[in-house]
Amino acid sequence: MILTSDRIAELSAAWEDLSPPEIVARSLELFGAGITLASSFGLEDVALIHMAALASQAPVDVFCLDTEVLFPETYALMHRVQDAYPVRLRRILPALSLAEQAERHGPELWSRAPDLCCALRKVEPLGRALEGYDAWITGLRRAQSPTRRQARTIEYDERHGLVKVNPLVRWTDDDLRAYIQSEGVPYNPLHDQGYPSIGCIHCTRAVAPGEDPRAGRWSGFAKTECGLHQ
Ligand code: SF4
Repeated sequence: MILTSDRIAELSAAWEDLSPPEIVARSLELFGAGITLASSFGLEDVALIHMAALASQAPVDVFCLDTEVLFPETYALMHRVQDAYPVRLRRILPALSLAEQAERHGPELWSRAPDLCCALRKVEPLGRALEGYDAWITGLRRAQSPTRRQARTIEYDERHGLVKVNPLVRWTDDDLRAYIQSEGVPYNPLHDQGYPSIGCIHCTRAVAPGEDPRAGRWSGFAKTECGLHQ
């Protein structure tokens, strides 16, 4: 590990009151080329890419877990972001193509066994995306769900064996929206059409006003997380 657990705890306490752009800038400075930014091109991720581009002289190392079943709007945004910012985008594909997955596990796995589908198309690729890095930046926010309330600004990710930086932990939905608007950050138009959280096309639906923002993910299943942050 590049930092001791004591040093991580010290930084976590010190960074708790910093603004997200400051946390992004400090983490890029601390880890240099050893840090990568996870992006599913949600509001959190485009805000983080914007902050990182403002803070860094070098292209920002960004990776996307491309499950091959993302919304067309997400793929379009990916291209827009690449045009707008100096990013080095790595698209990490699952080991199995959709056809190979269907052949091995049956058609439309997401409709029968979404945990297995996420394990194949997101969790395993995440491990590969993080190989060789000392730290990763994520868009985790405490307000997103009860399972994320304990997230720290910087913590050790035991599962993947590297440091995890969560610059947005303290931000509310309104804080995030206000930043996107004031900075003119490009974002997915689906967010204005009832999609607070956007994942794969088969597992995301629009939510009604007043409905839990996470209700649109894996609707009909008890599942609430893809397994990337557990
Ligand atoms: S979100 Fe749905 S389609 Fe995407 S990997 Fe998970 S189960 Fe599969």
